[in-house]
Order: sequence, then structure tokens, then C-alpha cells
Amino acid sequence: LSRDYPVSGDIPATPELKPAYDVVIIGGGGHGLSCAHHLAKYHGIRSVAVLEKGYLAGGNTARNTTTIRSNYITPEGIAFYKEGVELFERLSQELDFNVMFSQRGQLTLAHTEATMRSFHMRAEMGKHMGTRTEVVDQKGVEELCPLLNMDYGGALEILGGLWHADGGTARHDAVAWGYAAQASRRGVEIHQRTEVQGFEVVGDRIRAVKTNRGRIACGQVLIATGGMNYDVALMAGVELPIRCYPLQAMVTQPLKPWLHTLVSSVSLHTYLVQSSRGEVVIGGGSDPYQLYSTRSTLDMKEHLAEGAVHLFPFLQGVRLLRQWAGITDMTPDYSPIMGASPLANLWLDCGWGTWGFKATPVAGKRMAQTIADGRVPDILKPFALERFETFRLLNEMGATAASH
Ligand code: FAD
Repeated sequence: LSRDYPVSGDIPATPELKPAYDVVIIGGGGHGLSCAHHLAKYHGIRSVAVLEKGYLAGGNTARNTTTIRSNYITPEGIAFYKEGVELFERLSQELDFNVMFSQRGQLTLAHTEATMRSFHMRAEMGKHMGTRTEVVDQKGVEELCPLLNMDYGGALEILGGLWHADGGTARHDAVAWGYAAQASRRGVEIHQRTEVQGFEVVGDRIRAVKTNRGRIACGQVLIATGGMNYDVALMAGVELPIRCYPLQAMVTQPLKPWLHTLVSSVSLHTYLVQSSRGEVVIGGGSDPYQLYSTRSTLDMKEHLAEGAVHLFPFLQGVRLLRQWAGITDMTPDYSPIMGASPLANLWLDCGWGTWGFKATPVAGKRMAQTIADGRVPDILKPFALERFETFRLLNEMGATAASH
């Protein structure tokens, strides 16, 4: 690796908008930037504008807790996220930039027999699909995470776990900056403070994108706007089956390294991971009501603290440093919507809810392929918008919850 941090000038200042681009990507988060990088590097498509209404990767990419894993339920989901994990394994080389990928493994805890049964199903499916996913018993949990409160005989006794050795984390900003730097080096333009406010639709095509900085004619358009996906698609007349909920997380003061895996409890709706700075990152499920707000709440702070202290009682008294929220675009089956839209030149990279950071490399790679070929590759076909009409849902709710 040549360096650890972006060099000033890697991502040029926002240029003047040109009147037209071959591809307009709406959303300068990890997904939009990854797609731009793949279009420029692997498909030679360089007339690309990434339009970001705020600052680079300031949406959910900046707010997520960076869990990366492929221990999902459906074969379609596992195949897709497995490719995502593999891309993360070589991402620092791909971007010539240290994304601090740390493959520490994820341990999901079962406190009920029903959860244990579901873990056996996930482990078998995961093994069948070639991931490192296995069920461990109480002794196995203790060996993997000796500081856990097993609560023997208590109401929340830990009965076992799902051990996913492929799981890990990466530095979210580095991922986004790395893609941005590589894309702009190849001629992609990144326009910050550029908000898409509407579309000119003629027949079944988008002719131009209307922004606060003017009109842009476009060949192809990709929507990758995170928590705003429903609203942006609606401006083009496309109603997505998405509802938006806040999702919160928080970190403690830095501590010496003590937590060497990702730990998550479905019953407690709490997960923890220690960052490279020593802070313990704590997250859980979405807020229970639909809202477009990034305010954090005392309720959630108390809930997450309770779960964390139950699992690791010695955390009592440790101080919290920060708490924050993002707006997550949830689909009914907890799987994303990728591929075609009812408009011929509008592509969707939406419905990433609480689980999309891990898909940043693979979604960008596969959406770039889709745009370049004008055809959806097999690996993305199950995630089509039509599945909600044909009832071919990909139910990943049981693998999402507090595992992210
Ligand atoms: P974003 O990063 O949100 O980028 C979209 C961009 O579009 C934003 O920058 C926004 O400003 C821009 N935009 C919106 N509207 C417009 C417009 N009209 N014009 C121009 N630009 C616009 N996922 C995981 O895999 N693992 C996790 O551990 C995890 N934890 C999470 C924890 C929290 C607290 C949250 C909130 C999310 C978490 N996620 C996690 C989910 C993950 O963050 C998202 O799914 C992922 O970051 C989506 O990336 P994106 O690039 O699609 O969206």
C-alpha cells in the first residue's frame, strides 16, 4: 500500500456542471461512488457525474457500524453478500488505500431453542454456499468470547451461537474516499452540494435531471440515495415498496482492546464491536416508527446500554462519547432492490435499510455491469423490483434484526 490517508487533491473540488453526461449517479454515498469507480475502471465509461446533495458520503455511509458478513438465510442473499465479503478482502489493494478491513468474525448469540434451530438452518445453508458459518455450543461461545456473561440458569442464558468466521469490519470513510479518489482519477466528476430536485421524463425515458445547479441531460441514471430512495424515485414517477425508519448507534469512551469478535444478540436487540480506536460501538434495531429524522433518543440509549451491560456487566460505568442516527430505507422482505425500474434508462440501487454497507463493493460492481451492458446479471436478478408483484420475496428478516 502506498499510503493510509487520502492526499489532498485526490478528490477535486466540485467542477462546473456539463450540459450532459452518459451516466448520472444520484447519491455520493458508498454505493454511488463504488458504481462510479467500477464504471470508469472496468467498463471505460468516464462521462459520469455523481451528484451529492450534501458532502461526500455524509449519509448512511458515514453513520453505519460497518458490520460485513454473508451469513444470510436465502441462497440468493448468501451468494450476493459472499461476493461482497470477497471484494472487501482485496479492497485495500483495489483502491490502493487502506480501508482497515478487519476480519475478526461475528458471533451471534442464541438465548432460546427456537433461535438455535434457526442458526442450524443458517449454518447449513451457509456451508452449502461456501461461507464459513457454523453453530457453536456454550463451550464454543465461551472460547470465542470469554468475557461474555453466559447468565447460566437465567432468563437470558446463552445457549449457543452462530459463528461466522468471514465476518468483519472496515473503515467506512476510507471505503467511500477510496472509491471517490479512484473514480475521479479516471475522469468521473463528483458534484457535492448538488441536489436532484426532479426529472424530465419523456415516454419511458428520463431525458434530463433537474438540480439546484441546473439541468443535466443524461444517457443512464442510477438512484443510490440511501434514506431518500423512496422520495427520489417518486420524483421520477416510480413508487418503491420502501418505508423509512431511523436507526441509531452509539460509542463508548476508548478502552484497551478486549472484544476480539463482533458480538450480537437477537433477543436483546443489541450488537457490539470494538473499533480500532478502542471505542465500543453499540447498535440495535430500527426505531419503531416511520420518520425522517436523524435525532438520537434517550429511549434507545437506555435500551442499547441495558443490552450491552447485560452481555458484559463490567461495562457499567463506562462513559458514552457519541450517539447518532441515520434514515434507513426498509423493504418488506429486508432485501435490497437492485436492477431495472419501469423507466428504460433508470436503474435502482435501493432498499439498503440497515444492512447496505457490506454490499458497497459488490453492489457498485454489479450495478456498473448492469448499466454498461444494459442487462441485469444473474446474481442481481432475484433482487428485482418485480418480486413484490410476483411474490418471489427474499425474506432476510431473521438474518437482519440486530446483526446488521
Ligand atoms: P448513503 O450513504 O446514505 O448515500 C446516499 C447519498 O445520497 C447521501 O449522501 C445523500 O446525501 C444523497 N442524496 C439523497 N438525496 C439526494 C438528492 N435528492 N440529490 C442528490 N443526493 C442525494 N450496513 C451494514 O452493512 N452494516 C452495518 O453495520 C450497518 N450499520 C448501520 C448503522 C446505522 C446507525 C445506520 C444508519 C445504517 C447502518 N447500515 C449498516 C446501513 C448502511 O449504512 C447503508 O445501507 C449504506 O450505507 C447505504 O449506502 P448508500 O451509498 O446507498 O447510501
